[in-house]
Amino acid sequence: MTEQLKKSIRDVPDFPKKGILFKDITTLCKEPAMFQRMVDLLGHRYVGKGVDLVVGIEARGFVVGSALAYKLGAGVVLVRKPGKLPHKTHKASYALEYGTDTLEIHQDAITKGQRVVIADDLLATGGTAGAVAGLVHKMGAHIVECAFIVELNELAGRGKLSPHPVFSLIQY
Ligand code: AMP
Repeated sequence: MTEQLKKSIRDVPDFPKKGILFKDITTLCKEPAMFQRMVDLLGHRYVGKGVDLVVGIEARGFVVGSALAYKLGAGVVLVRKPGKLPHKTHKASYALEYGTDTLEIHQDAITKGQRVVIADDLLATGGTAGAVAGLVHKMGAHIVECAFIVELNELAGRGKLSPHPVFSLIQY
């Protein structure tokens, strides 16, 4: 089932910098049958799990997250880079290879006790999704799962998301 999905992802060597093998999901998303299969497989996993919100991480997480939310009849919440959200925000900073990065979420985006799935295209070191999980956990959300299209196993990002459950459709 996922073999074809895997084949539709493009490898781009040395992007955004030398030594990184970029897993480009745009080649999957532009194929109607592949995009539909991806959304169906993720959706199937969470149907009946009482998901209130899908939290999408800028920017490819918006594509995955909003399609999944629609499938589940859930709402969608945006986690964005600094300065993009217009209302009051909570912020989370996380370490990069060099320096730090910050993500923001609207303070009123999640109500205590809401059941959320966090969605992004790819789990690498887990820094990004880990920061988002920490943020929504502090806001009182129940994290049903962190869902990704792709997981890079050797970077062990799952560890950073512990104790929250993690699911990925495709692993490398
Ligand atoms: P990380 O915080 O290390 O788990 O990195 C995850 C974020 O960076 C995701 O939002 C991905 O879109 C992006 N990313 C990291 N590594 C790659 C890669 N090899 N290919 C595509 N996207 C990546």
